[in-house]
Amino acid sequence: GNDSTAGLVDPLTPVPTKSHERSKSQISKDLQLVRESLPIWGFQDEIRSTVRNSDTMVLIGETGSGKSTQIGQFLLDQPWMLRKVAGGGRKYGGCIAITQPRRVAAISLAQRVSNEMGTSLGKEVGYCVRFDNVSDQNTRIRYITDGMLLNEILHDGELSRYSAVVVDEAHERSVSTDLGLGLLKGIVETRRKKGVPLKLIVMSATLDVEKMAGFIGGDPIPDAKSEELPVAPICRIPGKMHPVEVYYTPTTLDNFQTAAVKTIFQIHYQYPCPGDILVFDTGSEEIEDLASTVEELALQMEADKPKMNVVRLYASLDPAEQQKVFVKGDPKVRKVIVATNIAETSITVPGVRHVIDCGKVKMKRFRHQLGIESLLVTDISQASAQQRKGRAGREAPGTCYRLYPEACFKKFEKETEPEILHCDLAGALLTLKARGVDDIFNFPFLDKPSRQSFEKALLTLHMLDALDDAGNITEIGKKMSKFPLPPVQSRVIVAAGEEEKLNKDTEEDVLVDVIDVLSCLSVEGNIILQSGRWNKVADDPKKQDPLLPSKKKKRKHNEEDSDEDMTAEERVHTKRMEIVHSSGDHLTYLNILRRYLSKRTNEQKQFCREYQVSYPLMRKVENIRKQLRGYCRLDKVGELPRDSDMKYESETMVARYPRVSQEQTERILRCFLKGVGVGNVARKVAGGKYRTLTASGNAAGGVDVVVHPSSCLMWERSSGSESKKAKKEGSSGGLEKRDEGFGEAVMYQDVVWTSKAFMKCVSKIKLEWVADMYAGP
Ligand code: ADP
Repeated sequence: GNDSTAGLVDPLTPVPTKSHERSKSQISKDLQLVRESLPIWGFQDEIRSTVRNSDTMVLIGETGSGKSTQIGQFLLDQPWMLRKVAGGGRKYGGCIAITQPRRVAAISLAQRVSNEMGTSLGKEVGYCVRFDNVSDQNTRIRYITDGMLLNEILHDGELSRYSAVVVDEAHERSVSTDLGLGLLKGIVETRRKKGVPLKLIVMSATLDVEKMAGFIGGDPIPDAKSEELPVAPICRIPGKMHPVEVYYTPTTLDNFQTAAVKTIFQIHYQYPCPGDILVFDTGSEEIEDLASTVEELALQMEADKPKMNVVRLYASLDPAEQQKVFVKGDPKVRKVIVATNIAETSITVPGVRHVIDCGKVKMKRFRHQLGIESLLVTDISQASAQQRKGRAGREAPGTCYRLYPEACFKKFEKETEPEILHCDLAGALLTLKARGVDDIFNFPFLDKPSRQSFEKALLTLHMLDALDDAGNITEIGKKMSKFPLPPVQSRVIVAAGEEEKLNKDTEEDVLVDVIDVLSCLSVEGNIILQSGRWNKVADDPKKQDPLLPSKKKKRKHNEEDSDEDMTAEERVHTKRMEIVHSSGDHLTYLNILRRYLSKRTNEQKQFCREYQVSYPLMRKVENIRKQLRGYCRLDKVGELPRDSDMKYESETMVARYPRVSQEQTERILRCFLKGVGVGNVARKVAGGKYRTLTASGNAAGGVDVVVHPSSCLMWERSSGSESKKAKKEGSSGGLEKRDEGFGEAVMYQDVVWTSKAFMKCVSKIKLEWVADMYAGP
């Protein structure tokens, strides 16, 4: 190994072996027994010696073999982990970073490992995900999303706090993983030259191992003639797989949701417990639908049948909710886990004997023709299908039901295409430019994106003023890259900071408001619950909401349409007309957040119930808001009130401005327009329809787009009681009446492409704002 050549041991660093032993004595025996039963346990010596002798390693092992939870613990007491001092007196190392593509995995792993080590979360073992850092300077094992690692590289190009970086789930090939791998290759080289090596370990369940080992490269051979590196050493953990029987459907199905429900009950009646069922579905909404259908039907089962416990598993779920999948329940109750492909390799669910695979996945796809990125449901790859199947055979022989014919399976792509080949590269390129990578075309990509997508992204960044005409990063671009937000959103913050400097004496603070709106946009999901959901809440007797009428009443209403007997929807609608802002979604979000924050903590839940706003999401919004303000302060983007003033500030804001003024509305919306640009503006055309301003693809005059039903601009239309609506609108200021031209066009944050192109998060604007934007100062 080359670790003995480097500097001195920092006397301030706690000796790692000691702290490790101390915590070890606290580990409960059970957890230790579980650790020892993991397939990886017997390979710890091999792993330690490989890493000791080489700066890089590829570690391959089945999902659940113990890679993510054990690797840090195996390496913690190694001599090369000690903090070292390099030539200039700078300190290096002491901590291991383990990257995860998903924030939930990072959080859940940190929790698990701190339990195993008997320490409290955030101390020796911690995590760092976007908008949430639970770790401190003394943290030694740090689970971190690959996006946050990129952010760290921006602040410290040598990743000096780490002795090792473990890139986990490398087969997922997220954009951030790919960028991280390319950058880490360079950092390993720099640190090696300085005599303070950084260990790089790439881990995966399924992977083109040779390709990866060749890409990261091993240690240079002394006196070798060529500069080319040998391949990195590979360590394989053999899996213990039980046979899994596979069934296909005879024909292609129209509705795999129904088929999944049938299959669940078939299995339940046919096979005895224990033996849980894992269903792979596409997204959170589909999962909620499927799960509640199964729950309803399970209530109608004969009493002699075993009970069913339905568990949901998707990324935007609360970590506490997620922890439920690991809880060992009653062996006489059958657990049915309905999950996204998060359960494919990221999270190992114990107890599964039966897998139901819908054969689909929701994936981000960039449509060059339209210039938009959207989530699309696509076929999975054969590699994915095999991984899903494997989930059934971890503990005993199992079965896998594929809800598609065998012929379809054969037509699936062999491997899942890496995200970098089909996403919008703008964010990725800005990341690289800000980290000093000028020659983007020659950056070491594991798979290189097409020239066309590079060019499109460069153009986008140029339009956002992040790059100058020569393609160099601008001051605006540098500021933008510091925010963990997509370029379209970070541009808005920077614009708000500029605007604020120009209008120092206005009482209403643009930056504060813009951060508030962005915080609402940054949670995974809509803070405003959609009408389908309220009925579901009301139908569940356990979650019966006193504000919502029972099922029976609703039916009665449908038949007779009586006016006194308001339906749940009408009631919520009336409430919502109090908070809606006539300009659209951006300002409505601001209204909601301001009112929410002006309530006392114990009243916030009630507020959410009344207006059918998601309380868990609002908690997240609060947190994101705090973090974004922190980033702004750090980078001196505008002046912000202190955190301790936040509560007071929103109270006074609501008292002073129950409605956001028209001037302020315009200021805020102009900032957002700078972000989305002319590409996300649509003009009103005959018949109340909208058409995009810019030509895209072969649609020279723009494409037709419609407002998504979730937008508050649709609320008025969905209302049954016209008179009430008119009254409410009168009190909301009636922007349109007072102001010519407002509403002749709309801008939107997102497009979802299903039967039509739907605009999401939409606000009315004036066309002249678009012209102003390109007129220059
Ligand atoms: P790999 O990285 O090889 O897929 P992991 O280290 O993630 O394997 O998982 C090892 C074992 O630890 C699995 O059986 C898994 O179910 C269990 N495990 C992982 N995370 C948690 C958690 N948060 N709570 C309880 N058990 C967990």
